[in-house]
Amino acid sequence: MDLRGIVDEAHDAAVRLVGTGRQAQSIPLLGEVPLDRLGVALATVDGEVIGAGDCREPFSVQSLSKVFSLALVLAHEGESLWKRVRRQPSSLRYDALVQLDVDHGVPRNPFVNAGALVVVDRLMAAHATESAAAVLELLRTESGNPAIRIDERLAASERGASHRNAAAALLMASHGRLEHEVAELLDRYIDQCAIAASCVDVAQAGLFLARGGLLGSGRVLLSEREVRRLNAVVLTCGTYEAAGDVACQVGAPVKSGIGGGVMAVFPGHGTLCAWSPGLDEAGNSVAGMAVLEEVADATGWSVF
Ligand code: GLU
Repeated sequence: MDLRGIVDEAHDAAVRLVGTGRQAQSIPLLGEVPLDRLGVALATVDGEVIGAGDCREPFSVQSLSKVFSLALVLAHEGESLWKRVRRQPSSLRYDALVQLDVDHGVPRNPFVNAGALVVVDRLMAAHATESAAAVLELLRTESGNPAIRIDERLAASERGASHRNAAAALLMASHGRLEHEVAELLDRYIDQCAIAASCVDVAQAGLFLARGGLLGSGRVLLSEREVRRLNAVVLTCGTYEAAGDVACQVGAPVKSGIGGGVMAVFPGHGTLCAWSPGLDEAGNSVAGMAVLEEVADATGWSVF
């Protein structure tokens, strides 16, 4: 299969969508990222890396980081995590509070913000509170890029605008669901979301999801069964309220972030990351999703 041709064509076809949608407005600095970017990178389980466009420009990974923190927590404590957070898609916004209170402080899934905060709470327990450093380390090692870092300006920008996440954390604390102090938990969560990495970095770092849980070193991070389940949660909950549509369009687990990054996992084949900051109503990158759909179609890598 001519993967280079497929990636180039998907990139070129999506260029017409660049500039469609709007940058995330909830974090002031994200609102200033130029709309005209489009990067694509495919990393295959055979070790090929194919990039196009702005594939080496670091962007704010935001919720893409949540797949990595979840993988680390599952590796550490296994299935017991699912007593603290459910695995159900949500039709409400990712920062909604209503459902959380109705559900006695147990978040709907690990990718809505409340759920991701619970995952960070567990990761802090596993790593002497250095949870963001653990995620950073995983990304650096798997991508082979030690320059991946936390964008401190972006983190400061989110810190000034994190009232809803603070409310979610306080609500969970009121239900006795958290181990760590809310202020510290929010700090670690924001640091993790503010990691800046490129499409090439993310595609390579996410390869273990396509490789049955094996890290680049050959070490097992997750068993095949665990990674199958993790991918199921990514498929059903990874793209906000649009997860059902995305499952039809791409036919594979997809995680998105409000920085405009999207990552698709094609088990047994590879991991694809696209980035373009213009988001649709649900918060998914317009051009990025088009790239994923195009590559899934052309390769026939749908899991269905
Ligand atoms: N840091 C962002 C927030 O908490 C992440 C949102 C996202 O990418 O879904 O709102």
